[in-house]
Amino acid sequence: MQRKLAAGNWKMNGTGDSLSELSALAEGHRSASVDILICPPAPLLSRAAEVASGSAVAVGGQDCHAAPSGAHTGDISAAMLLDAGAGSVILGHSERRQDHGETDGDVRAKTEAATAAGLIAIVCVGESLDQREAGQTLDVIGAQMDGSVPDGMTADTLVIAYEPIWAIGTGKVPTLEQIGEVHDFMRTRLTQRFGEATASGIRLLYGGSVKPGNAGEIFSVSNVDGALVGGASLKASDFAPIIAALE
Ligand code: PEP
Repeated sequence: MQRKLAAGNWKMNGTGDSLSELSALAEGHRSASVDILICPPAPLLSRAAEVASGSAVAVGGQDCHAAPSGAHTGDISAAMLLDAGAGSVILGHSERRQDHGETDGDVRAKTEAATAAGLIAIVCVGESLDQREAGQTLDVIGAQMDGSVPDGMTADTLVIAYEPIWAIGTGKVPTLEQIGEVHDFMRTRLTQRFGEATASGIRLLYGGSVKPGNAGEIFSVSNVDGALVGGASLKASDFAPIIAALE
């Protein structure tokens, strides 16, 4: 069984000064009973890896290109992330899908590239508010999982993050029943595709306005194996209690 995972996504926030927050987090977590991950902006990655070195905090990327190298100005390959100290990469975040037009096919290709380079892929899925209100949530999540996750993934190479778009950065959180319904559905979908032994080990994260005050109840929901946290991962004093709720 994989360990639970508390993953922080700094998005496009932070410069070198912000590494003091990572330093405080690392100092407070020389060891941990859960996996802890911070995904800073790419220019901070190698410095972040140095700051976190020797602690229980790992660092990861927020995106990678599907190609191993080439004429892709501004893009970053999976091997570059690995070289900078990353062990994981977030792929298909709804902000990438919205802002950069990433399709399920793009996310699948990136996931294949990440896996080939030796990174753990954290593949994000989630419905819009319109889709939820139209009763399409499970259809949307199922289609995104089918389209974005390549064949041959294992519990060591894949994490799925369920992030309802309407809950990201809004302070709105689905009910525990709604979270449980989607996570149970995702586990079943993975079991149908990869078999019970593999699917039971693939970690399913919830993401969307996770805070110290609601983390405990969210982690009590079955098939929630951790969280992908945006805003509340920027400060060690906010992220530490979320980690503690998972331990
Ligand atoms: C995210 O960006 O993945 C996220 C869940 O953000 P927040 O925690 O700020 O809602």
